[in-house]
Amino acid sequence: MTEFVVVADKLHKDYTQGTLVVKALNDVALSVRHGEFVSLVGPSGSGKSTLLHVLGALDAASAGSVRIDGDDLGGKTARALTELRLEKIGFVFQAFNLLPVLSALENVEFVLQLQGVKKSERIDRSRDVLQALGLSDLENRRPGDMSGGQQQRVAIARAIVAKPVLLLADEPSANLDTQTTTELCELLRTINSDHGMTIITATHDPLVMGFSSRRVELQDGRIVSDSPVTNTGG
Ligand code: ADP
Repeated sequence: MTEFVVVADKLHKDYTQGTLVVKALNDVALSVRHGEFVSLVGPSGSGKSTLLHVLGALDAASAGSVRIDGDDLGGKTARALTELRLEKIGFVFQAFNLLPVLSALENVEFVLQLQGVKKSERIDRSRDVLQALGLSDLENRRPGDMSGGQQQRVAIARAIVAKPVLLLADEPSANLDTQTTTELCELLRTINSDHGMTIITATHDPLVMGFSSRRVELQDGRIVSDSPVTNTGG
């Protein structure tokens, strides 16, 4: 294990919109140590999602380098990137993105299936993580029969079942009310402190930011401030 889970340097990401080139990331450098809980903040369009996607190997940078847990993303094949993602990175999205035809247990299990874990172990590990997050009662429910908060908790269970070193969350509370957001934050804090998982979340929500340990602010694709968050806990 290396000291840093994320080391990104001189990152650029350009999007072409007609004749216009949008610099979604413009010379970003970011290093994140094991066990940090980072909030990425900044106005809409400042580059938060783009940065999460590039760090999570969902999208390639136009230039620059990214190392995840010591592993350089540059020059890897699509297949190697998929394997790295499955092994090292968990994702949580604002729209939850659970598979609607699968139960909570099957949604969580699916990640382990992609990793080639055998059925009995898949079920044991998925049940363990659902239980650890207080979700055993939802095991057989499909997303359509769950509240938004429940879906997001199952999505978090799915994101951490393979024990990634890094959890990336893109506006995870955007579709949740304040009470449910507080519960989500408590859950993220537990995952961060008890399971030692490094978390980077893009958020507009001061509540989520209050639970994090570091606040990184983006503006027009650049990091404009980077500071510790004191009085964590909302
Ligand atoms: P944020 O997450 O902070 O709202 P984004 O990373 O989504 O910001 O977007 C940063 C900039 O990049 C915006 O100007 C946005 O319009 C642009 N952008 C993002 N994704 C694409 C895309 N797929 N194609 C073209 N432009 C994009």
